[in-house]
Amino acid sequence: MLPEAEINRVLVVTAHPDDVDFGAAGSVALFVDKGVEVTYLLATDGDAGGNERTLDNSGMAELRRTEQRAAAKAVGVTDVRFLGYKDGLVVPSIELRRDIARVIRQVRPDLVITHHPDRNYRNVAPSHPDHRAVGGSALDAVYPDARNPYAFPELLRDEGLEAWTVREVWLTGGSTPDHWVDITEAMDRKLAALQSHVSQVAHVEGFADFVRTRFAAWAEQAGFGADHYAEAFQVVPTG
Ligand SMILES: [Zn+2]
Repeated sequence: MLPEAEINRVLVVTAHPDDVDFGAAGSVALFVDKGVEVTYLLATDGDAGGNERTLDNSGMAELRRTEQRAAAKAVGVTDVRFLGYKDGLVVPSIELRRDIARVIRQVRPDLVITHHPDRNYRNVAPSHPDHRAVGGSALDAVYPDARNPYAFPELLRDEGLEAWTVREVWLTGGSTPDHWVDITEAMDRKLAALQSHVSQVAHVEGFADFVRTRFAAWAEQAGFGADHYAEAFQVVPTG
């Protein structure tokens, strides 16, 4: 794995508002504590989500962007970017690969965190079609697009964006995790981030308990002991 001291910038690429907060906000908080610069890139505005049916889709998109910015702030992240794809309709595409490759070249991250592109047959929720599309396109953007100066030559020609090699990718939501981060000291901030998505979680009874139970289970699987919490990833070397 990439030595922690060599991780200076992290880019998190997800499909919807709240995905990063379920999958990785605890790990993000710990990176921020160490002075790592973290950027969030969301493919959609989450305009097909929410519990409040009185809003039309554009109202929902604005609300969910605002909630995601608040959630980011709860773990110390201020750089939050949106690509504006339609929630529920994301497919792996050349356009999505170019849009992610552009941000990789702008941010120049050492590590990218994104969705596992394969379907998880043990638990359907992490395998939303948008998640698989974004995870697959993000991996394609990491290799080969962002590092290949001949891929999307307009990025260099028109925007001056030089090729960039991401050294490692961590995948969330897969069925074969092999890296667990002890997020115990950041658990309160992760929960605050999740609870920033008011339109998604405010109506869910026992939400905090549900979250703590879920991430305590990962800690148990990782062998971190009682009263610990963990997030789980599959690590892909891409250097
Ligand atoms: Zn999602």
